[in-house]
Amino acid sequence: HAKEINPRNTNAEYLYNELAKRNIPAVIMEPLLGGRLSNLHDHVVARLKQAEPDRSVASWAFRYAGTHPDVLTVLSGMTYMEHLEDNLRTYAPFKPLTNEEMDFLYTTADLMMQYPTIPCNDCKYCMPCPYGIDIPSILLHYNKCVNEGNIPEGHDGEEYRKARRAFLVGYDRSVPRLRQASHCIGCNQCGPHCPQSIDIPSELHRIDAFVENLKQNA
Ligand code: SF4
Ligand code: SF4
Repeated sequence: HAKEINPRNTNAEYLYNELAKRNIPAVIMEPLLGGRLSNLHDHVVARLKQAEPDRSVASWAFRYAGTHPDVLTVLSGMTYMEHLEDNLRTYAPFKPLTNEEMDFLYTTADLMMQYPTIPCNDCKYCMPCPYGIDIPSILLHYNKCVNEGNIPEGHDGEEYRKARRAFLVGYDRSVPRLRQASHCIGCNQCGPHCPQSIDIPSELHRIDAFVENLKQNA
């Protein structure tokens, strides 16, 4: 799905095979796509947990990367001791993915593509915005709500009220009012810095319109 996520991406399978042809071992950076592969939709998490209840969601990505024979090492930024411990459990001893597990992951990836998250990995290359907008926090809050099923649909019912409240309260907690999408003037100074080619002003305006709509439908 590399090209579907970002047209500037190069298929990792192609890159890996080019290295293998030249006997150059591969070094994998960002095996969790900047954390995106450990923050998945609740349905996807449930699916992975059902298959391997004792393993973390992140461990699937590490095992995927490590299963390829010409991978020399997998580099990952770890902020907390629990991440380090989890990664050690994944790699010592290492259990490569079976063919069935590979197929299971490809089907899981197809499922992930159905959820409309924005491919922001919180790299912050778009920052600082000259108008003070906290771009990554806004996009990540939106993604979190998509993954947790808190993107309210319709205008009525208990589910709508719960999701609406979760979205709006969470938005104010995650992003100070003055740094929210409503203050974006659309200058696009941020856009060219985004390695994921996200159309940042459009996404911010879309999220702002969504927020305004939620506020009006109290
Ligand atoms: S488009 Fe919006 S978010 Fe991007 S730099 Fe301009 S004001 Fe900031
Ligand atoms: S540069 Fe793009 S991917 Fe990185 S934080 Fe900004 S919007 Fe997200």
